[in-house]
Amino acid sequence: MIDFLIIGGGVVGSALVRELSHYQGRTVLLEKGRKLSGVQSTHNSALVHPPAMMPPAKGKLKAELGRHGSRIHLTLADRFDVPVFQNGAIVTARTDEEIKALAALKKQSEKESIHTLTLLSKEAMLEREPNLNPELKGGLFMPEAMSADTALLTDRLAANARRNGAEIHTGMEVADLRSTGSAFEVETTSGRVFHSRFVINAAGAASASIASMIEEHVPFETVPRRGEYMVLGKQASGYINHIIYPPPTSKTKGVLIIPQPDGTIRLGPTDTKQESFQHALPTEQGMEQIRREIDLLAADIPYELTERLYAGIRSSITDPDFYIRPSATYPRLIHLAGLDSPGVTASPAVASYVLHEIIRRIEPVHRKTNPDLFGY
Ligand SMILES: Cc1cc2nc3c(=O)[nH]c(=O)nc-3n(C[C@H](O)[C@H](O)[C@H](O)COP(=O)(O)OP(=O)(O)OC[C@H]3O[C@@H](n4cnc5c(N)ncnc54)[C@H](O)[C@@H]3O)c2cc1C
Repeated sequence: MIDFLIIGGGVVGSALVRELSHYQGRTVLLEKGRKLSGVQSTHNSALVHPPAMMPPAKGKLKAELGRHGSRIHLTLADRFDVPVFQNGAIVTARTDEEIKALAALKKQSEKESIHTLTLLSKEAMLEREPNLNPELKGGLFMPEAMSADTALLTDRLAANARRNGAEIHTGMEVADLRSTGSAFEVETTSGRVFHSRFVINAAGAASASIASMIEEHVPFETVPRRGEYMVLGKQASGYINHIIYPPPTSKTKGVLIIPQPDGTIRLGPTDTKQESFQHALPTEQGMEQIRREIDLLAADIPYELTERLYAGIRSSITDPDFYIRPSATYPRLIHLAGLDSPGVTASPAVASYVLHEIIRRIEPVHRKTNPDLFGY
């Protein structure tokens, strides 16, 4: 009998399998892809958002777990040897109104105990970033922002879990989930059946379809939203040296300039509703929108160095907050849904939340005597 079975090996499932591998019991992760992290977790901005960009007004749990995760990531990357680009971010302003909004964001963040932000005059900002659009009026510097190699992070979390005894199976697609009363039967498309006392549904965009295998009423509704990117090759390295956010809006974080640890620069993402979670392909309209919005942020972007285009689909739900709760019918079945941005940032905190705020409230868990915390 398995104690904890996780469905889905994105960055969240991998953070969870690592967390649970430090505790007694048999832990298994099933991932349908041939490798971990092949879906949303690598088709994104790879950005660890700074705490001030995850305000409670945009989702209480998102803010709590995003901010907690943001503070853990650097240590995690350091211990796991995951390359990061860590020069901080500048949130820019184009108008006097937006300058006031940045000052208000700084003040509000201070009320929430974030004291790291610095307002930059236009001159100070252009001194740091000479290639920004000279029409910009100023910015707000956030030192905690960084980008990270999320594919490597996921692999190292999983490798650490394996060292601690967890079993990770790729190429295993869950096709059915049933309750036997005292446990769950999890059946894969190849006909293998696993028996587990707990099941954690961390299937990202497929979380609703997993839930619908067993729930009469799925307690959340998914809304696929596409995000497209253009990637400038390594020759563009150094053209921009911070993560650049557009002026904040009440809706999305907008189209950003995101230098990566490998020297490439990602431009994106767009935000478009679409019918299904399939076919995350970049479109001509998406590329036009990126160019239009990036030109407002920077001058003479070397688009000719574009080496690839890609798109990802956010596993959003109608509620803007993360949905991380046990099933109303089966307390040992835990659904993770709506883990769109900042899900990478929040992932280590999500893992700890599931363990301490959900599983531990159902039954005690005991730490292994000597888990390997950082080996991989
Ligand atoms: C365009 C875009 C930009 C983003 N930018 C950022 C950002 O900059 N910073 C940030 O913090 N977050 C960002 N995010 C959000 C972040 O990528 C997600 O929150 C995070 O990747 C979610 O991880 P996950 O493990 O829940 O989902 P996923 O990575 O989607 O993993 C789910 C896994 O479940 C597997 N699966 C599905 N069905 C089954 C099945 N039946 N059986 C077995 N396995 C199954 C899938 O193959 C997949 O590997 C962005 C997302 C997008 C799309």
